[in-house]
Amino acid sequence: MGRSIYFFGAGQADGDAQQKDLLGGKGAGLAEMTRLGIPVPPGFTVTTEVCNAYYAAGKVLPAGVEDEIKAAIGRLESLRGARFGSADAPLLVSVRSGARASMPGMMDTILNLGLNDEIAQGLARRTGSERFALDAYRRFILAYADIVLGVPRDRFEDALGRARRQAAAKLGVDATRLNSAELERKVPDSLLDPESLAALIQRQKDIVLGATGRPFPDDPAAQLWGAIRAVFDSWKNHRAEVYRKIHDIPEAWGTACTIQVMVFGNLGDDSGTGVAFTRDPSTGERRFYGEWLPNAQGEDVVAGVRTPHPLSLTGTGAGGADDGSSLEARMPAVYAELFAVQGKLEQHFREVQDLEFTIQQNELFLLQCRAAKRTGRAAVRIAVEMAKEGLISQREAILRVDPGSIDQLLHPSIDPSAPKELLARGLPASPGAATGQVVFSADEAERRAGQGRAVILVRSETSPEDIHGMKAARGILTARGGMTSHAAVVARGMGKSCVAGCSAISVSQGRMAVTTYDDHGRTTGAITVKDGDLITLDGGTGTVYLGAVPTVPAALSDEFGELMAWADAVRRLRVRSNADTPHDARTARNFGAEGIGLCRTEHMFFDEERIQAMREMILADSELGRRRALAKLLPFQRSDFLGVFREMAGLPVTIRLLDPPLHEFLPQDEAQLAQLSRATGVSAEDLRHKSEELAEYNPMLGHRGCRLAITSPEIYEMQARAILEAACEVAAAGIEVEPEIMIPLSMTRRELSLTRALVEEVAEKVFAEKGRRVDFRFGTMIELPRAALRAGELAEESEFFSFGTNDLTQTTLGISRDDAGRFLGAYVEAGVFAKDPFQSLDVAGVGELVEIGRDRGRAVRPGLKLGVCGEHGGDPSSIAFFERAGLDYVSCSPFRVPIARLAAAQAALAAEAARGPRATD
Ligand code: PEP
Ligand code: MG
Repeated sequence: MGRSIYFFGAGQADGDAQQKDLLGGKGAGLAEMTRLGIPVPPGFTVTTEVCNAYYAAGKVLPAGVEDEIKAAIGRLESLRGARFGSADAPLLVSVRSGARASMPGMMDTILNLGLNDEIAQGLARRTGSERFALDAYRRFILAYADIVLGVPRDRFEDALGRARRQAAAKLGVDATRLNSAELERKVPDSLLDPESLAALIQRQKDIVLGATGRPFPDDPAAQLWGAIRAVFDSWKNHRAEVYRKIHDIPEAWGTACTIQVMVFGNLGDDSGTGVAFTRDPSTGERRFYGEWLPNAQGEDVVAGVRTPHPLSLTGTGAGGADDGSSLEARMPAVYAELFAVQGKLEQHFREVQDLEFTIQQNELFLLQCRAAKRTGRAAVRIAVEMAKEGLISQREAILRVDPGSIDQLLHPSIDPSAPKELLARGLPASPGAATGQVVFSADEAERRAGQGRAVILVRSETSPEDIHGMKAARGILTARGGMTSHAAVVARGMGKSCVAGCSAISVSQGRMAVTTYDDHGRTTGAITVKDGDLITLDGGTGTVYLGAVPTVPAALSDEFGELMAWADAVRRLRVRSNADTPHDARTARNFGAEGIGLCRTEHMFFDEERIQAMREMILADSELGRRRALAKLLPFQRSDFLGVFREMAGLPVTIRLLDPPLHEFLPQDEAQLAQLSRATGVSAEDLRHKSEELAEYNPMLGHRGCRLAITSPEIYEMQARAILEAACEVAAAGIEVEPEIMIPLSMTRRELSLTRALVEEVAEKVFAEKGRRVDFRFGTMIELPRAALRAGELAEESEFFSFGTNDLTQTTLGISRDDAGRFLGAYVEAGVFAKDPFQSLDVAGVGELVEIGRDRGRAVRPGLKLGVCGEHGGDPSSIAFFERAGLDYVSCSPFRVPIARLAAAQAALAAEAARGPRATD
């Protein structure tokens, strides 16, 4: 282990921005800001290595670390001319967590540490405000009791209520009938007088004594050790673990712990605290943007209890006019300094920064800077604009956007022309439209989402304990809090619709009371929304509607088009789409698909008229009967293919012949059986008997795929005819077609030579009948381990392979696709798989079969075209593998085409970087 402590202060720092692994994002940012000459309260960071050593030793700090911490405290004392633990010139510190990746609000932080009764009096003398000193002290006790001593905050609520009532009595406010929220509004923290605060402090200490059997620790040194341990412990608290799982953050990283001199934003009206972004994190617009609260501590902004004010005259957040509450209006000099700092930081890091600052009696301090979390829309705009400003290169711009995050851009928003009933307005905290049933608790959100219901989580405000419910919900609505409240930040990170700070609603006891207003802002009445009622959120405008409101498809920005064009210029992998209908084909093409990689023909058989013919075919006793039924299906198939070919003019279209086991098409209930009996003249009894005959124990490994063609070749004959007749027809109309006929689930050369002979025979007949020839390719899916292993012999018969990684994963792992959901979660939790292998390719196992298939296939047929059409074709980390594996294309669902294009470009850039600079001989 290297050094344990990195000091920063007075313009010098041991660490720098590169050392996030060791110092956490917060520690590294503070060190770098100090080096840049930006005003930062001095402090030091205990490294993540110490955290890991602490856990390795069974939660014991490594030897020597305590002495180093004491020495570092000594340096802070001499820098500030104050003493930790002294009443004469008290030095208070904050103890903050901070991991390599930002985990907003998930871990613990303690402010105002270093106080006891005596020191609080000293602080009162130093600051000239007893009210301030006692307020700092009671906040400290509350946080310390909750975080370090394990006495939950809500145990102190009554004591706080009593203090408010005591203060109310002095103010002449009748508080007898007020509930706690009303009381807080009437007597906010700032109105608690010294006497009520002193009584509150005593009560808090009594509660601690009662709950723990020990007095609250008076010794500042003991407080410090307790807090440092608690910060390290918070790395493994439940909510941090959940957050890590969602965001793929390894447990082995550990958290750092930063101990920093306190500065106070609550020393009066010349003080304050806030959060700022160098660009708008929702839209990406280049404007300095943020919120602040006068006379407040940082936790007041994050907790979202008070609704903050905008920073600047133009950045009014909710879109209203500035009422003189902005920082720019109230403290123009401080605002100007902050504005200069943000510009400097963005230029320095060449990245949008999220800043935390505190103003202590007109003096500005920066407490944190980090790369800002942003919506997908903002990410795209920021990357493109920064490249155009020359701050970053086009290649960096491509790498800056998480492909998963652009999903948000591609999804529908509220239909502006649809009738809708406005319920309330709040802040546009995270864009996107979401409709669902109202639920009031995170647990309930999770439970109902688990039953497949869409829910909107409605809370007064959210806290990190709600994270599982936020994940399960479609959208989040909060009554309180600003654009940087917990709800807003977390929802943006998850790409979820969120309306925050919706002050017209109040939430209590399982219902939401909504005050309604007219156009002039006058109250018109009240509506009660109950658990289970439907509402719709528009997170882009901050609007809440009653009921379900229809949505319209996404409209893509110019910046999005530009970024995609840059990505297309660097990627090597082609991107196709899985599409079964002309409509899907058009969507795919609009999203930039360069062909269809998988058209699943079975999806075409489920329409009312078609399923009937299909059932007749399956249940026919003779080949003649089957052919008669197939003849009815032929025109349907042909017209489907015509539509798809027209949409994809000039691009390849891979059509897979019938794949699923036939019993999937059979009647599911008695009514369907009776209907089929009437249509075919076969008795219901006989039909039932035939259905039972077709049932399989394990249909996924049963009579499906090309096995159907070995027993009933006439099915594939009909399909080949429909494809080729349609191809001739569009060719006759002067439209370029490139059909590719694909055989599913093959594993032997013989299966392919038989089906190929059948297709070629049909082709010759069709071409003779139509008097024209159309070029087409014949190929197969690789979905079984044997197919990958025997790829050489399959390549003798195939011009292309498409890896069906859904089935290939199922058959390689021996895990049923349909049953995996029951236990794969536990597998991922236990670390057997890093991710669900049906979502993200098992590169080590299934990936090796892909490579074997590639090598053995290309050895026989060098020009063999290779693609992927399983779900993995739209998954960024799997795409990175397909790029490395040198495949020709991936194919994914239409909405994932842009994601795949961007991921393919990033994979190409990564591959280029891995090859390193080329030798210049
Ligand atoms: C596959 O198995 O990967 C595939 C694309 O086919 P399906 O999902 O239809 O079985
Ligand atoms: Mg398959």
